[in-house]
Amino acid sequence: MSGDSGLNFDPGLCFIGGKWVEPVSGETLALENPSDGSIICRIARGGAEDIGKAIGAARAALAGEWGAKSAVERGRILTRIGQAVLSHADELAQMEAKDVGKPLKQAKADALALARYLEFYGGACDKIHGETIPYLDGYTVYTLREPHGVTGHIVPWNYPMQIIGRSVGAALAMGNAAVLKPAEEACLTALAFAEIADRGGLPAGALNVVPGLGEEAGAALTSHPDVNHLSFTGSVGVGTLVQAAAADNIVPVTLELGGKSPQIVFDDADLGAALPFVVNAGIQNAGQTCSASSRILMQSGVHDRLLAMMAEKYEALEVGPALSDLNVGPLISARQKQIVSGFLERIEGNAKIVARGKVVADAPEGGHYVVPALIGGVEAGHVLAQDEIFGPVQVVIRFETEEEALAIANGTDYGLVAGIWTKDGARQMRLAKALKSGQVFINNYGAGGGVELPFGGVGKSGHGREKGFEALYGFSVLKTVAAYHG
Ligand code: NAD
Repeated sequence: MSGDSGLNFDPGLCFIGGKWVEPVSGETLALENPSDGSIICRIARGGAEDIGKAIGAARAALAGEWGAKSAVERGRILTRIGQAVLSHADELAQMEAKDVGKPLKQAKADALALARYLEFYGGACDKIHGETIPYLDGYTVYTLREPHGVTGHIVPWNYPMQIIGRSVGAALAMGNAAVLKPAEEACLTALAFAEIADRGGLPAGALNVVPGLGEEAGAALTSHPDVNHLSFTGSVGVGTLVQAAAADNIVPVTLELGGKSPQIVFDDADLGAALPFVVNAGIQNAGQTCSASSRILMQSGVHDRLLAMMAEKYEALEVGPALSDLNVGPLISARQKQIVSGFLERIEGNAKIVARGKVVADAPEGGHYVVPALIGGVEAGHVLAQDEIFGPVQVVIRFETEEEALAIANGTDYGLVAGIWTKDGARQMRLAKALKSGQVFINNYGAGGGVELPFGGVGKSGHGREKGFEALYGFSVLKTVAAYHG
């Protein structure tokens, strides 16, 4: 890949031990542009042997130059890489937009978020420390925070840069050496990141990237006995396999899985303030966002008004190629389009599509476009209100009382993010406590991303936390030292 500012990695290679190498199989996979169905390039089909080599390189880095770095030195390296990401932000955004199909502005925001993660974790490296613990007479007891060792990172296609930033960034900050398996559907920015990190002075083997299929390279990484920690972001189905593999080797695992996140809008809410949040949180990245707000719960007093306001927004939504930078891009694949279309065929009973956007006339035939759909009158227990659709589809559910809203909001298998819109302070506090959710937002949704804000789920949304300082505790092991000196 060559760009104006000079990234020139070969996407057909793996990055192992600081070198660009062919996958052992010599095989490659086609990488599709979701905006038009064309093939962007071919990527390495890494497999078990490549993963084994990457883990070996990571282990060697821990025993060598990378393992010898102090927290301050690691911080300087990460900060420098963050600066380099910033200077490549436009090039990375173009790459991500083409690869994932997300509108350019959203891809640029992801590149800036990656830089911000590196800046945050670069600054945090030397602020994490152990404690001294008062104990029996004659003892001095203290704790040390140490790296796990080799960390495995499996990342999905929807937000490669952001997820690499929060997971690999935090792991490196704590002195681990990482093996990253990006998604086969979108992995260019993972490779670009390896090149940027290498140029920025990250020692060989501290970061290794092996593209390939989930059931090959991914499964090899999760089951390898020499990996000390796993971080997985993706579907519940694969998360279950990853947790089982982690159990076999008794290693800790962080699972960042799906969601069916609600925003609850009460009669006293500021509808004008809520409107952009309730819509954008459903259609951003064409709804292919783990924390998408795919259920909008409206109290009956504002239901009709807010639904009409949302419908107006939906009718103005334009869908088209990523580089045209419209409101919504294509879905990642023909398969994803089929899944989302399948859900739209299941509208029944009182549920009906209230408004849709439109695909622009010049959108290429081969792109995987789905027209955004706002569905009203949905029953809380219906499949459309229970399952993660992962497309530009939001369902609206009417409620009468706070108790009913809470029961509906908590009434799915998931618990990733929730939003509350009300001016009633006591209600805000009650619901923030009672919602089954890893994050709760009051009179906003998402707080602009916030790399500082711990993130993760409960229930089928997963466990463990990434982002913020919390990730640094997760990517380290606490050792207790008790010295008897009389
Ligand atoms: P997926 O689980 O199919 O794939 C995710 C990653 O897992 C890919 O890199 C894939 O190659 C790998 N993989 C697949 N099979 C594997 C196996 N047997 N062993 C090891 N690795 C394997 O998920 P997807 O469909 O690509 O992504 C969408 C899902 O990810 C949605 O459910 C979404 O909610 C979730 N997601 C969650 C978050 C979060 O932070 N909670 C963020 C983004 C996406």
